[in-house]
Amino acid sequence: MGRDTSEAVGDAAPGAFAEDVYAARMDRTAYEAAALGLAGVLVTPGPDLVWLCGYRPTATTERLTLLVLTATSQPRLLVPAIDRPTAEAAPGAGAIRVSDWWEGQDAYAAAAGLLRPHGRYAVSDATWALHLLCLQASLPLATYQPLSVVLPMRRAVKDADEVARLTAAAAAADAAYEEVIGLRFGGRSERELAADLAGLLRGHGGSRVDFTVVGAGPHAADPHHRPGDRVIGDGDMVVLDFGGLRDGYGFDIARTVHVGAPTDEERRVHETVRTAQRAAFEAVRPGASCQDVDRAARAVLEEAGHAGHVAHRTGHGVGVTTHEPPYLGEGEDQPLEPGMCFSIEPGVHLPDRFGVRIEDVVTCTEDGARRLNTTSHELVIVR
Ligand code: ZN
Ligand code: ZN
Ligand code: ZN
Repeated sequence: MGRDTSEAVGDAAPGAFAEDVYAARMDRTAYEAAALGLAGVLVTPGPDLVWLCGYRPTATTERLTLLVLTATSQPRLLVPAIDRPTAEAAPGAGAIRVSDWWEGQDAYAAAAGLLRPHGRYAVSDATWALHLLCLQASLPLATYQPLSVVLPMRRAVKDADEVARLTAAAAAADAAYEEVIGLRFGGRSERELAADLAGLLRGHGGSRVDFTVVGAGPHAADPHHRPGDRVIGDGDMVVLDFGGLRDGYGFDIARTVHVGAPTDEERRVHETVRTAQRAAFEAVRPGASCQDVDRAARAVLEEAGHAGHVAHRTGHGVGVTTHEPPYLGEGEDQPLEPGMCFSIEPGVHLPDRFGVRIEDVVTCTEDGARRLNTTSHELVIVR
């Protein structure tokens, strides 16, 4: 199954880019925030920090780590003194002025020294409430807004290098799927199969497995089913939906398979979902809205009488995380742009009976969508 590439034994900075890539991302973010009248952007450990400067502290803790981006000065990174060597080794650190605070010192007072007392700041979504509330106490006249509310599309448009990584991540997920359908399903528990799937993903270079949904029989109707002790049997539809990271970028794929011969109804529902997936795929083009893509899938499902069996939106962005903007759902009028990468994952969920889900990650190009997952949508019969 290949080398174990889990982060614990992998590179210190999986998926790092060149320093100038991070410098450009930080510049652009500061510039876009300033254009909205913000004093700056505050980022603590999490996907935004990784994307902006490649820094992932060894442990994300109660100690404050804060990146401050403003249009008027060089990026600043405030870190606990004990983390300074790791922070300075981050791939984007050369473009940042690093400062530190010592144990016993007031980290929030140190942070306040880098900020404007009356400024309005965007704050990364992953920021702990602890840090934001303490910062607020230190700087009570400043105001704070969620980064994904003020700059929702900041990470959404991927450059060619990012699309290449997402393509490689999708290929790893495809390869794991191709192998898992060769395994025995019947007589084994959802949990056992999920463990096999996680092993296959790691074998294909997955550094992190976020979820491995294996929902058999009635559990296939539960989109976020947690694999359990249910033993998979002949006649079960099985939804496989798995996501994680490879080389710093996400994969997220779903396919529905069947143990033994499917009924006509199961075939019909599967075919309907497949058609909905294709309709949404064909609706993707620059300038179309996220909502248009969702509606294209929904129209097919509703036409087939499944209006009441659609549990969730049609898709979500994928990048340095497996779930991020843009979101493809009703009310999302964001226009699509070339370089955006997102899932298309319509499903039909028949409570207490069965369900079908088919999901690919695609990228929007000048000419429409291109699939990053290329493995077949056929209803595969497993043993
Ligand atoms: Zn369930
Ligand atoms: Zn998924
Ligand atoms: Zn998904």
